[in-house]
Amino acid sequence: RLGIIPYLEQEQQAGRIRNLGFSFHDEYEVFEEILTARDWDFCQIQLNYMDVEHQQGIRGYYLAQERGVPIVIMEPNKGGALANLPADIESIFRAYDPDASMASWAFRWIASLSNVKVVLSGMTTMAQVVDNLSVFHAFKPLNHRESILVEEAAKAIRAKTKNGCTGCNYCMPCPFGVDIPRNFKIWNTYAMYENKEQAANGFQSLDRSNAFASVCKKCGACENKCPQHLPIRAHLEQVAMDRKAWGIDEEE
Ligand code: SF4
Ligand code: SF4
Repeated sequence: RLGIIPYLEQEQQAGRIRNLGFSFHDEYEVFEEILTARDWDFCQIQLNYMDVEHQQGIRGYYLAQERGVPIVIMEPNKGGALANLPADIESIFRAYDPDASMASWAFRWIASLSNVKVVLSGMTTMAQVVDNLSVFHAFKPLNHRESILVEEAAKAIRAKTKNGCTGCNYCMPCPFGVDIPRNFKIWNTYAMYENKEQAANGFQSLDRSNAFASVCKKCGACENKCPQHLPIRAHLEQVAMDRKAWGIDEEE
């Protein structure tokens, strides 16, 4: 409607743009619509071995591959979560290769997909730069056994989830202001990745908006709206108990 694509095509014809592509954060259907709207030179998506069903997911990756659109990857390490895994998950990888970093498994998984051309990674230390470079310097795609190992680890991480909240929001709004899906998201994410700082930030932001689980008055209005039939009241109580047990204190 705004004429952006014809403008960019004109700029490309004039040689001011070499590769014309798009970066994407939305659901599969939107991805398909944009991807098939024209012949793009590339597209940039979020994908890692834990997010194969998130946003466009692996399905979107295969659609781009089928159409010959090269892929640039964001969040190959899920914002660092896959670089610092809980000890029991880490041991799955260490038993196979004691020296390989957790990040290297995530990078090798993503870069083993043949249509992935660029992998973007945020790095904060020199050691991370050195480790990441060593993965790509003499890149070895995952072999069959290694692919199975990553699948096993992903399954074990998913099994740590506390409940099956999909974040659909059907239970909202809560008449007392509890942000049900966000409470469950923080709860599930902490159970999977044990990132205390991230969970503390999430819970504190719920405290600030008076939307933390302990605000629940147990009226029950939310429960029959949940397509997953979750016992929301009992789970919110558990969120508050786990937060204490995990030592993720409330804001001073
Ligand atoms: S049971 Fe709790 S979370 Fe559900 S609507 Fe009532 S106060 Fe809100
Ligand atoms: S309706 Fe159920 S699945 Fe959906 S956000 Fe609420 S608790 Fe989660």
